[in-house]
This record gives sequence, structure tokens and C-alpha cells, in this order.
Amino acid sequence: MSGFNRLRLEGVGRRFGTADALAGLDLTIERGEFIALLGPSGCGKSTALNCLAGLLPLTAGSIWQDDRRIDTLPPEKRGFGMVFQNYALFPHLTVRDNIAFGLRMQRLPKDEVRRRTTAAIEMVRLEDHASKLPGQLSGGQQQRVAIARATVLEPSLVLMDEPLSNLDAKLRLEMRTEIRRLHQSLGLTTVYVTHDQEEALSMADRLVVMRQGRVQQIGTPEEVHTKPSSWHVADFMGYRNLLPLTAGRVSGDAVAVPLGGTTIDGVPQGEVATGDDVVAAVRPEDVKLGSEDIAGLKGRVEVVEYQGRECAIEIMLDDGTRLHARTERKTEAGEQVSITISPGRLLVYPSDGAADRP
Ligand code: ATP
Repeated sequence: MSGFNRLRLEGVGRRFGTADALAGLDLTIERGEFIALLGPSGCGKSTALNCLAGLLPLTAGSIWQDDRRIDTLPPEKRGFGMVFQNYALFPHLTVRDNIAFGLRMQRLPKDEVRRRTTAAIEMVRLEDHASKLPGQLSGGQQQRVAIARATVLEPSLVLMDEPLSNLDAKLRLEMRTEIRRLHQSLGLTTVYVTHDQEEALSMADRLVVMRQGRVQQIGTPEEVHTKPSSWHVADFMGYRNLLPLTAGRVSGDAVAVPLGGTTIDGVPQGEVATGDDVVAAVRPEDVKLGSEDIAGLKGRVEVVEYQGRECAIEIMLDDGTRLHARTERKTEAGEQVSITISPGRLLVYPSDGAADRP
């Protein structure tokens, strides 16, 4: 394996006409890491991946493999493997021949091609399908062929662009585990593009959250999930309650915000002063029903959505604010409820520009 210890992207940018699809991406990837590039459609994830792969020339910055600059190399000289959303298999070749293709191109001895191809087929559990054509396989099986074809070459880096987005929900879950298992057993350094935050949280060692061509936050799944760096990241990470408010009294590590006709304490994230426009963010699962609340939040259940063990509900507070909550308790629309927000879970962000507030 043409290995490296560290891959560095320094100020990597890509401009189309006058628009920056990617504006100054700085990222260091350690050998063996699983990195997810995450963000809404159009934020520049695929552009970043294609710049890494060499499919798209940079318009700014540089890419380094240890001390070797690689952004001037063509894709085939970088030794990276790629897996795309649409599998991109050769339709007229069998599973075995699809997987062996790259090894044959390298003119390796026949024995070695056979041995490595067989090992790759076993790795993705396609022993029973080796002589079939791609058209005779399910979407999940085809994607496993694509993964085997990319990894059989033992690339120093595997790049995956939304590889699971064409699969149904059940298969997506299975393939998540499968890719994670392969990553662990082969020790592959992986960069994985997705717009699905659950996928990114469950698979990656570190997430790179992007927005409008810029990195918003880099961190472990836990860091990004529990401490989003801005309300935009919070929005993307499932903090469905984003409330434009005005900060009240700030004392130590608490800031009072007006909500539901009363005042409750939130945790300031960044510089927040009394009187500032802020955005308060809280996840539905941290808005609880029923128990007597010291803050005395009260409201009326407006919508109940049955979701199995839990219900997702929407509550209208006395001041007209709508809150999304989750509960295991049986509730009905119209019911009056008291509400608790889990301590420390109401995050209060400076609003960066009032026009931009939710
Ligand atoms: P998606 O999840 O929808 O694939 P993405 O985050 O991968 O989105 P990119 O495909 O990287 O986003 O695109 C980033 C921005 O660059 C978008 O605004 C897109 O319209 C623009 N863009 C991408 N490729 C080109 C191109 N070849 N020419 C012009 N603009 C482009």
C-alpha cells in the first residue's frame, strides 16, 4: 500500500465562474481515520471530494501527502479508491471480473489477481454471486461490488460520495455497518460524503460540517452533536427548535431568555450580551412533558405524530411559540401540558446577522 501518515488540505478552494463552491478548506486527515463531509445540498462536499480525487483542479490551495505535494498529480497517480452513488460498475463484466479489473490493469501475476479478488469477494460476502452480472444483483449487492473493486487495490485513501443514497432504508442501515466493519478490518483511511447526519454520526471518527463552501465545524460525532459551533450547525444536526429571541440577564455560564411568558436559563455559546439578538436551540428529545417544571413553561399540544415507542409532538406555548418535543407518554391534541427543558440543553447562539435568523 502506498501509505501515508497524514494527508493535509491547505486552503483548498474551487471556484466556478465567480462563485466559490469551496472556499479555503483546511483539513488534516490521519492515517486510518474515517472522515465524513457533511452538509446540505450544494455546500461543496462533492467538490471537496473531487478536488481530493484529482477529478477537479483546485483554483486555490494545495494538498499534501506527508511532505509530498499531490494536487498537481492526475487521479490515477494518487492511488485513491472511489465509490460513487451510482456504483459505476462495468455491466458486461461479472462480479469477479469487475473486482479483478484494476488488478489486471496493474499487470499483476495471475495467481495474485485470483487470490486478492477471492479475498475481496469474501470480504463483502458475495461468494454466491461471483459469476453474476451487475444487472442480476440488488442495489446493495452492486454497491458491495463497487466497494470491493475500490478496496481490492489497497488504496491509501478511499473516497465515497453518497454511496448509500440509492438504497432503501433497511439496506442503508446494513451497509453502514458493513462499510464500518470493512474500514476497521482493513484500516482504510476513508473520506465519506453524505448529507445524512445520522449516517455521518454513526460511521465517522470525525465530521466536517460544511455550509456554503466553508467549514463550519470539525469534531467528533459527540462534539458536533452536543456542542454545535453555530445555530446553522445545530439546525443541520437536528435541533429542530430554533428560536429567535433577545438575550436577558447574563450571569456566569447562563443567559436568561424569554420563553412562553416566563424566563428560562440557557447556555451561551460564544459572545452573548444582554439585549443581543440570539438564536436559542434545543432538540425535540430535550423538551420533556409532564413533570412539574421550575421554569413553569406551559402549553397546548397541537400535533401528535405516532412514531412507535415515542410520539413526536408540537406544542404551542402561551406566548404563541411552537416547540417540537418527543414523549413516550400518551397525549392528544388539545391537551394542556407543562414542559421541562433538560438542564444545560438550551443552547443560546449569537445571531450572526438578523436577516439570517430562523
Ligand atoms: P449535493 O449534496 O447536492 O451533491 P454538494 O454539497 O456535494 O451538494 P457540490 O456538488 O460540491 O455540492 O456543489 C457546490 C456548489 O458548486 C453548488 O452551488 C453547485 O451548483 C456548484 N457547482 C458544482 N459543480 C459545478 C460546475 N461544474 N459548474 C458550476 N457550478 C458548479
